[in-house]
Amino acid sequence: MIQITMPLNFLGTVYREIRQSLVDMGEMFGLLEQAPDITEKTNAKVLNVQGGEVSFDAVFFGYDPARPILKGVSLHVQPGQTLAVVGPSGSGKSTIGRLLFRFYDVQKGAVRIDGQDLRDLTLESLHAAIGVVPQDTVLFNDTVGYNIAYGRDGATRDEIEEAARAAQIHDFIMSLPDGYDTQVGERGLKLSGGEKQRVGIARTLLKNPPILLLDEATSALDTETERDIQGALQRAGQGRTVITIAHRLSTVADADRIVVLEDGQIVEEGTHTELLARQGRYASLWQRQQSEEAA
Ligand code: ADP
Ligand code: MG
Repeated sequence: MIQITMPLNFLGTVYREIRQSLVDMGEMFGLLEQAPDITEKTNAKVLNVQGGEVSFDAVFFGYDPARPILKGVSLHVQPGQTLAVVGPSGSGKSTIGRLLFRFYDVQKGAVRIDGQDLRDLTLESLHAAIGVVPQDTVLFNDTVGYNIAYGRDGATRDEIEEAARAAQIHDFIMSLPDGYDTQVGERGLKLSGGEKQRVGIARTLLKNPPILLLDEATSALDTETERDIQGALQRAGQGRTVITIAHRLSTVADADRIVVLEDGQIVEEGTHTELLARQGRYASLWQRQQSEEAA
């Protein structure tokens, strides 16, 4: 009997470890996947972040060069400012984020951070400068503390708690049976969509990147939870350059600048107030969404 149980236990452990590494790889893939043609120059430089100014200059890009997705996109985000990118699904919003992370290289034009062309930089220094809050935060099958600590190697418990406080998830964690040592994920406590997003925000805050990229960070949440999370995101954006990609316009109304992307081109830009006054694409999208929300 003993002889049989021992190997089974052993197999259970191995199975768990394999599962865990698959989850880790899933996360890595979302974060670090590189198209095969992305290479670092042999003399690649470490990104020297000054204020975190982001610029896209007349960028052309297509996953298939024969089918252009971005057609001459120019964007400039001043250090510490928030730029919102809105527009219909398929217009190329997420592609802008992928180019900033250099999953792909532009076909024409350039993407720069503080004046440095991404193609001249080491990927490690580029990725260290950008924090991403995606639509769905992936949780590891580990403790909630580990899930936040993943944002930065060697973070102390105090730093983890500080990030959790800023993401407005600390009190919730303290209410769990084992606090920060509570197991979460598929095999532990299942967190709600809003709680998972807060853990994701805490993870990003711990990384403390000068540039923050939010890609539909709240679009998987119901309207009420979204409003809740918005506060945590606003706090996360303080003192950073933020590019926020959104479908629901109500979440970006207070951005410093909003660009409307359609079919890979910027068709309008300005502040929320300016764009409403213009009575163009943004204004009609806004009116449509307002009446949808009222209904
Ligand atoms: P949005 O975020 O505005 O919804 P995306 O930037 O994700 O739009 O996509 C823009 C276009 O590029 C879409 O037509 C989409 O089908 C296409 N696309 C996105 N990712 C890929 C990919 N990895 N390979 C090929 N086409 C893609
Ligand atoms: Mg998208």
